[in-house]
Amino acid sequence: MLDMNGLYIDGRWENGATAIENRNPSDVSDLIGLCPQATTAQLDEVIEAARRAQPRWWAAGVQKRHDVLMAIGTELMARADEIGRLVSREEGKPLAEGRGEVYRAGQFFTYFAAEALRGHGDLAESVRKGVEIDVRREPVGVVAIISPWNFPVATPAWKIAPALAFGNAVVWKPANLTPASAVALTEIIARQDIPAGLFNLVTGSGREIGQRLVESPAIHAISFTGSVPVGRGIAAAAIANMTKLQLEMGSKNPMLVMDDADLDLSVAHAANAAFGGTGQKCTAASRLIVHEKLHDAFVEKLVAAAQALKVGHALEEGTQIGPVVSAGQLAQNLDYIAAGKAEGAELLCGGTRLERPTDGYFMAPAVFAGTRNDMRINREEMFAPITSVIRAGSYDEALAIANDSAFGLTAGIMTRSLARAAHFRANARAGCVMVNLPTAGTDYHVPFGGRGASSYGPREQGRYAAEFYTAVKTAYVAAGEPE
Ligand code: NDP
Repeated sequence: MLDMNGLYIDGRWENGATAIENRNPSDVSDLIGLCPQATTAQLDEVIEAARRAQPRWWAAGVQKRHDVLMAIGTELMARADEIGRLVSREEGKPLAEGRGEVYRAGQFFTYFAAEALRGHGDLAESVRKGVEIDVRREPVGVVAIISPWNFPVATPAWKIAPALAFGNAVVWKPANLTPASAVALTEIIARQDIPAGLFNLVTGSGREIGQRLVESPAIHAISFTGSVPVGRGIAAAAIANMTKLQLEMGSKNPMLVMDDADLDLSVAHAANAAFGGTGQKCTAASRLIVHEKLHDAFVEKLVAAAQALKVGHALEEGTQIGPVVSAGQLAQNLDYIAAGKAEGAELLCGGTRLERPTDGYFMAPAVFAGTRNDMRINREEMFAPITSVIRAGSYDEALAIANDSAFGLTAGIMTRSLARAAHFRANARAGCVMVNLPTAGTDYHVPFGGRGASSYGPREQGRYAAEFYTAVKTAYVAAGEPE
């Protein structure tokens, strides 16, 4: 069990002023530990420590940064079973997903270890004789990282790894619901040979500690993943200080199932993308836009697939869908079920709380049919094991429905037509397009992000991450004697 000693500040583990309980959503009688709540004084100290440490880390050079990141990544991969179990216990995703997440987190570190070595500059000819130009990338400075609970190790990993690779210091505020995963990752980072203060873990309430962090004029950049309202608030705070900003927020990902699609594959991908991770993924398929020719057969098979999913304790063998993360999230999900019914959507299965041998937040995966795109359940991110089917008469109609959303993270199409797939790829208003694949499931070495209300600022992951985690400097050098 964790104790209060869970803040990592300027190279030391410290207590918070108070603590909150961290309980297992599969079994609320299982107290995982206590999550210390940092004071504002501790936060201010952390930011100062990070500012002091950052130039030393940049000066340590690329080999050092590579080696540290490689060591972190290698250890995460080697301990994926053990830390994955903790993730599953704390967040509620089935063990295979917890393990997979931690392994993936390791891959982000090893990938960015190599990025640290890559040359990130440009050379240019000057329009003036005798002048040479080079364009280099330097660290932005101190990066505030604010992460959510749904991928408590992978999301921070894809932010922390590039931040460190490009020479920055980090102040990390993880979600209050998943502090044990944050401590596990921090313990690995803290064991490396890095300057004290370079990497800091500050747990505490988002509204207090998170808000103060993003309002700090001493922070140079903020990378946030979470909800749209919080993202908007962070953007307002950042602009007051002209702080560099990267936001990954909500989604309402469409998946088109066309009349020429492979029916069974479409059902399998839709069920996987809608209910994997209990539907608590920003890439979840929440609007299934199905051609009328396939509609009835698709719906029948999808309902059967949803009902066949085994919902249970995340650590139990055979569980496919774990609990919802918290009582608050479960209550919100049930409200969306009521809202969908009130708007006239037809609930074909699920949508109720389930009893299991342990007291957890279990919910039966839900399928709504007969829905319209203007219903709340098709406009707002639910972050729940709930998906909606929308009937479409043609590809053009389906595409128009898909693009009629405030969000634009991922968009998928199931079709055997190369022409349709190519058209969709070019015309879907989304940051990631999936052809004959689930909307969820992305690689670690290519950019990730969306459009509209889904994302703001430069892309995350892959080489594109350099845009956010570095500042560009153009140098003009008169190399010889002026003519
Ligand atoms: P939030 O946006 O509230 O939380 C995300 C992170 O931001 C957490 O670390 C949180 O801390 C922190 N935070 C909260 N308020 C502030 C603030 N004022 N200033 C700075 N940081 C803050 O998401 P929730 O966890 O409450 O989830 C609510 C909904 O958000 C979900 O139902 C889902 O729709 C959406 N969501 C989307 C995600 C995505 O990947 N697209 C991920 C998670 C949620 P703390 O935990 O202490 O509150």
